[in-house]
Formats: sequence, structure tokens, C-alpha cells
Amino acid sequence: MSEVLDIAMKNGRWTECPSCKEVIITQKLKENLWVCPNCGFHFRISNDRRIGITCDSDSFRPLSPSSGSLVPDKEQGKLDNVLKGGLASIEGLPCIVGVMDFSYKGGTMGVNTAEMIISLMKNAQGLEKPLVLFCSSGGVRVQEGIWGLMQMLRTVHARRFIEDIPMITVFTDPCLGGVTASFASLADIMIAEPGARIGFAGSRVIESTINYKIPPDFQNAEKLVSRGFLDMVVHRHNMRGTLAYILRWF
Ligand SMILES: [Zn+2]
Repeated sequence: MSEVLDIAMKNGRWTECPSCKEVIITQKLKENLWVCPNCGFHFRISNDRRIGITCDSDSFRPLSPSSGSLVPDKEQGKLDNVLKGGLASIEGLPCIVGVMDFSYKGGTMGVNTAEMIISLMKNAQGLEKPLVLFCSSGGVRVQEGIWGLMQMLRTVHARRFIEDIPMITVFTDPCLGGVTASFASLADIMIAEPGARIGFAGSRVIESTINYKIPPDFQNAEKLVSRGFLDMVVHRHNMRGTLAYILRWF
């Protein structure tokens, strides 16, 4: 039986939930917006899928960066696709949407990613539309050295000058390092998906540094709401409705 399951999982028809280990038919999981029907675990999803389940169908129009400085990633020879951004509508309400993808280089923020974020802020200001950013990142792209690190300053600086646009951040699992510590935390409204890990240094790094066992709920979304860092934790099924509710304010 387990061999049959292995084959079915390999060809993608079945998926194992990393949280409760339940084996789920992938189509069922897709229909449930990539949330485990058994335990409610929120799977990490690509930016295309995220746009598909959040924005109105066919409303997404990708925006090209204003300065045209998106250069191909030298290693991969293709465009840096950590962040996908554009003009879209959610329940008929137009907004600028940016979605980070953890599966590409851990969603790290390099020069290109920051350029795109700043471009989205400028577009939101120019078009007078709210900005919705889905953040999922391992932090700054250390491979870019000091240039990577400087993007924290650049995005914070950009937000300082474009502070009149309403900005909503949706933290998805995981959001760590320089992204949480820069533009992501400068939103007017901060939302997270259930169980998302949000913080600066990861718990293992802290544990080994201070030599102290930290509690299991450390850096999780529910704890951060209780401490006032986040405004709310919203289930993926209710995300569209909640964003539309907030967008109506602006
Ligand atoms: Zn599960």
C-alpha cells in the first residue's frame, strides 16, 4: 500500500501534509486553496497561485518597473522572480498587489526585488491605489553582500517618502530577516496567515546564541497578535473577503 502511495505522491496526485502527515488528493487540496482539510495547515504557495486565489480572475496586469533596471539574474540567466507585482482588483476594488515567492531563492530581497517594491510603491502613489504586499522571505539576499543589505535602507527610505499610500502587508510563512525588519513592517495594516513564522533571526540561531530554550509559539502569528505586532490573523479562505473589507475604507 505504501508503495502505491509513494508512486501517487511522486506524480503529484497525492500530497502529504507536513503538519499532520495526512495524505491528501492534490486536487482536493487545490480546491481547498492549499489548506490542509484535516488540520488547517497553510501550505506555502507560489506567487502565481497566490494571485490566482486572491485577485479577481484575469484582473492582474503585471507592472514593469519604472526605471527599467530589472536585469536578468546572472546565475539563472532569467529575471529575478521573487516578487511579482501588478495592478489587480479584489472583489472589484482596484489595488496594487505584490507577492513574494519563498520557493525562488528563499524569497530573499536582492537589488532587483527592492527595485520592484519601490516601483510598486511609486505606482500605488501615481495611480492613487492602496498597496497590498504578500511577504514571504528568508531575509536579505546575502549573496549580494553589502548591496543586498542596503536594500533594507532603500525600501524604508522609499516608504518614508511614499507614506501617503495605504499599505497592507500580509505575512505568510515564513517571513524573516531583513524583509520583516524593513518595508514589510511599515504597513498601515498588518495581517498574517495562521501559523506563519514572523521574526528577524530564526529560533535555532537565537537558541544557539543565548543558550536558552525558547518556547514553541515563539515568532508565530497568533503570539504576535497577542503582543500587538500584528493586527489580525486571517484564514486563507477569508483572506479575499478581509482584504476587500479593508480596501473599502480607502
Ligand atoms: Zn494537515
